Amino acid sequence: MVVSYHSQSPKFGSAIIPESYRLTTTSENPHNVAEIAVPGPFAGPLSYRIMPGQQPLQGGRCLVPLRSREVLGIVTGTRPSNAGDSDALKAIIRVIDASPLLSPDVLQLARWVSRYYLYDIYPAFMLALPALLRVGDHAQLKDEPLLVLTIAGQHLDPDKLKGSRQRDALAALQSMQHNGQRCKASELRARGIERAHWKSLEQKRLLKQEAASLNPNTPQGQLRQPSLDLNDDQSAALKALPTEGFAVQLLEGVTGSGKTEVYLQAMSRTLALGKRVLVLVPEIGLTPQTLARFEQRFQDQLVTLHSGLTDKHRNNAWLRAQGGEAGIILGTRSAVLTPIPDLGLIVVDEEHDASYKQQDTLRYHARDLAIYRARLLNIPVILGSATPSLESLHNAYEGRYQHRQLQQRAQGQQRARLETIDMRKQQQQHGVSERLLHRIRQHLDGDNQVLLFLNRRGYAPSWFCHQCGWMSDCPFCDARLTYHRGRHQMLCHHCGHQERPANQCPDCGSSDLTPLGAGTERAEEALSTWFPTTPIIRFDRDSVANTRDLEHQLARAHADGPAILVGTQMLAKGHHFNRVTLVGIIDMDAGLFSADFRARERMGQLLVQVSGRSGRGERAGEVVLQTFHPDHPFFTPLLEQDYPAFAAQLLAERQRSGLPPFGFLACLRSDSAYPQRAEQLLKEMAQRLLAEPGIRVFGPLPALLSRRAGKHRFTLLVQSDQRSRLHTALQPLVAGYPRQQRHLSWHLDIDPIDLM
Ligand code: ADP
Ligand code: ZN
Ligand code: ZN
Repeated sequence: MVVSYHSQSPKFGSAIIPESYRLTTTSENPHNVAEIAVPGPFAGPLSYRIMPGQQPLQGGRCLVPLRSREVLGIVTGTRPSNAGDSDALKAIIRVIDASPLLSPDVLQLARWVSRYYLYDIYPAFMLALPALLRVGDHAQLKDEPLLVLTIAGQHLDPDKLKGSRQRDALAALQSMQHNGQRCKASELRARGIERAHWKSLEQKRLLKQEAASLNPNTPQGQLRQPSLDLNDDQSAALKALPTEGFAVQLLEGVTGSGKTEVYLQAMSRTLALGKRVLVLVPEIGLTPQTLARFEQRFQDQLVTLHSGLTDKHRNNAWLRAQGGEAGIILGTRSAVLTPIPDLGLIVVDEEHDASYKQQDTLRYHARDLAIYRARLLNIPVILGSATPSLESLHNAYEGRYQHRQLQQRAQGQQRARLETIDMRKQQQQHGVSERLLHRIRQHLDGDNQVLLFLNRRGYAPSWFCHQCGWMSDCPFCDARLTYHRGRHQMLCHHCGHQERPANQCPDCGSSDLTPLGAGTERAEEALSTWFPTTPIIRFDRDSVANTRDLEHQLARAHADGPAILVGTQMLAKGHHFNRVTLVGIIDMDAGLFSADFRARERMGQLLVQVSGRSGRGERAGEVVLQTFHPDHPFFTPLLEQDYPAFAAQLLAERQRSGLPPFGFLACLRSDSAYPQRAEQLLKEMAQRLLAEPGIRVFGPLPALLSRRAGKHRFTLLVQSDQRSRLHTALQPLVAGYPRQQRHLSWHLDIDPIDLM
């Protein structure tokens, strides 16, 4: 295909548009057909005719006809028409963007996502766009307009004006403009100047309003705060990371070993070269603390992209990233597809975290996309974790990734001691053993904080009849209902079903019913009766629904004096609690016997992560694990805080069974109100897959959660020693079976991480 370049660049704000975007027409070689990705079950773009005067741009949006509808499409390329084109090729209705939205690397990344995860092309492009641009809004900052003085306004002596308010307004604007500040109405209001006052300046043509526009600039890497002197491990890691060229560095170090400091200094090098940085963090890892740490270091603009933003804010942040205004883009999973000019480094923090994998529709893994993108752009990527995924460790052991370890805690603190409490020999109340209770008291008396981890929210995991053993089940799922005392409701954590707790047993009529087991809500209640004067601070999805709640609870945790923090895995992630000296793990036994082969990896990671919360300040920490299986071999390396030995044990197991990272896996899941139909579909697929070379299948079996929201669920695991064989075998299924039929749906999950 011959592509010629336009001499004039299309303008979008003042953003600079790289040469490679500009595909267009010449008279000898007219590009009169555009390839456009449209919604629907299409693996690639469709062809549309370009009408005279239209200038569709690669990576821009168009309005096009599709069947009887008008839809938004993304232009993936243009070309001259050829003999293969149908005469009935439909025409583009309207070109929306005068400059491209998606950069060539993002287009390529999205195409790869669609191919690799065997999913439609359009949703892959949509992942890269903020919601407002997906529905066709103009690619413009949705910010207050700027107030700009006209030439007359700049030179008029304010004293010549009559009203004192107008005088003040003009003087304020003149001094701001003189200092190069861009002024908005809200800033004037903060100085006591109301709309009416500057409006009269506008009427006198001393002032005009201008739409907010982007301010693209080249990153400088100027620091606000000096960087720290790196210790030996840290500087070795930084030195080993190239500033240019593709390389993956797995940076392994316990919490507090100084990984973030290495990221910051690597970022500073990249910014100083005039290139930008993308930092990915897990879903709930993006706390005000994290953000503040990045903002305090650099002068270059930082934007955040995460699900907690309003559509408007996300739109603005995205445009600042895409338009080259921000130097640092900090975001969760989907930020990996943000177009960023001159991207020079990607950091994936807590690379093992499950929230990097999208668990519905297009089931991509952001860490894997980050690596693919880095390879496309020929830039380095850092994967940081205290507990790397087995996949990344394997890649490091095989020499595909650099492996750097930070052995010491950056500030020289002691590692926490870890011990088990044998629950078979303990009295317990509300899930807390006598021994643990005693320890909690000791630590609180020493003016310390205590952290209690419990991987179950709500009050109690069940409602139980003492006479006949009946337990409350969800009518729609194969799961127990959880009792939430605060709202006196039984809640299903899988489908959201709610009901009042029964007063009488539906089986035997007894009224001897009580909650069974303990959740965070119950632990909080019990603790507040045992320690009535100590603040109890809860962290779970019920008590922390948004960033504001999180900020509030974190602020309480950082206040002086003893306190107990109690919560779910939300507590395990990245937060720094300098005054915690005791971590109590109330129950982690469930992962020992799960049928999900990843459950153990997750449980070990969680144990190490939670333990890492202890002793981060000057005081040494202790970690206490309650378990009914203190002798389980699984715990041995973890008690010695030896994550690499633990990982080696799991890797050996995976190798024996050909599971990832030694073999490649996909999971087919079906669900239907009629169990036979769901099972039959997967049986048929299993037959077809078995006819392919090098493919093994397991199942179909009922899913671990075999019924959810009234639907019966089946799974079929597909395994191969070669990734390409897996793809070749699965492709015809994707093409041959619609994902949704009446009373039956199915989906494919490539590299599944959750087998529930
Ligand atoms: P991680 O990201 O591995 O949890 P951090 O980078 O947050 O570790 O470091 C933990 C603490 O140690 C932070 O308070 C940080 O400021 C401090 N720190 C990190 N590196 C150094 C260093 N080289 N010298 C002194 N303090 C450091
Ligand atoms: Zn009963
Ligand atoms: Zn349910």
